[in-house]
Amino acid sequence: MTVSDGRILVTGGAGFIGSHLAERLLADGADVTIVDDLSNGAADRVPDAAEFVEADLTSIAADALADHLEGVDLVFHLAASKHVDTDRPHGQFEDNTRMTRTVLEAMAEADVTDIAYTSSSTVYGEAPRPTPEDYAPLEPISAYGASKLADEGLLSARTHSHDLTVWNFRFANVVGPRLRGAVIPDFIEKLQDDPETLTILGNGRQEKSYLHVEDCLDAMLHVIERADAAVNTYNLGTRTTTSVDRIAAIVADEMGLEPDFEYTGGDRGWTGDVPKMRLSIEKLAALGWEPTRSSDEAVRRATREILAEYDDR
Ligand code: NAD
Repeated sequence: MTVSDGRILVTGGAGFIGSHLAERLLADGADVTIVDDLSNGAADRVPDAAEFVEADLTSIAADALADHLEGVDLVFHLAASKHVDTDRPHGQFEDNTRMTRTVLEAMAEADVTDIAYTSSSTVYGEAPRPTPEDYAPLEPISAYGASKLADEGLLSARTHSHDLTVWNFRFANVVGPRLRGAVIPDFIEKLQDDPETLTILGNGRQEKSYLHVEDCLDAMLHVIERADAAVNTYNLGTRTTTSVDRIAAIVADEMGLEPDFEYTGGDRGWTGDVPKMRLSIEKLAALGWEPTRSSDEAVRRATREILAEYDDR
């Protein structure tokens, strides 16, 4: 399908990736509506040219959401809770799957059949690397990963009952301007507080693939315009990885600092963290797309971009 002249609804469009996506779609000539509850997004990230609906997708009725889907050609469903609520052990799973159910019910009411979904490398759990799309069994180790896998299942099932076309993107770690609550901004903030010492979660040897948000958007649009199976599942990442120690070194270097590194210990940053991740991107390559930046280059560029945002405050 062609997205550039379409009507597109972006859930989570006030967030990190969603706001970049909305800007890109508008620049390409699309009409864009954003639905976001601003729980982790910001109203000032919503482009002026986009229509904005402030709504909580865990509680909005499907028919109310369907009103905003009239005439829409494609839904980009990005809204998701990325944060663990310790008071609600299954809260993240319930919230994310409820949102997806509501989006699917609303699409059915409005006769919208095309949806792009932002899944995650976390569906694979601790899998051999590089991990291809057809790796099995899928055994996520976090409620977040479980919610992404459950959503993929809902979308797949729906293609058979409602003739949907689904583009299912399993992202590596995406970085760039506006990223917050992740390792790069976390290290920047810690070093701004204490330039002498940086505390690193785990042992620093966690090693993952980082993809710049511009490459992430290019890859999604490339796939949507070329892949037309009922369910199109693609990993989006880089061929290389960056260790947490390396990220710390890049951030310190960009800030002109030489801090001591201290470690909280253990081989992962937190319970449910997959310490090593690298996705196979051969399927994406076969469709003619390669990332323009390596993982290290993506991390360095994002560090510069985020530092510039902190300087502007
Ligand atoms: P983000 O938190 O910046 O964006 C998500 C947006 O969804 C936020 O603006 C938030 O306010 C909104 N949202 C959350 N709950 C909502 C609700 N109940 N109703 C309406 N809106 C709600 O996250 P992001 O990094 O931009 O991620 C976008 C998508 O990509 C998510 O689905 C995420 O799981 C997925 N993803 C991201 C990464 C990454 O590295 N950033 C990796 C893998 C997958």
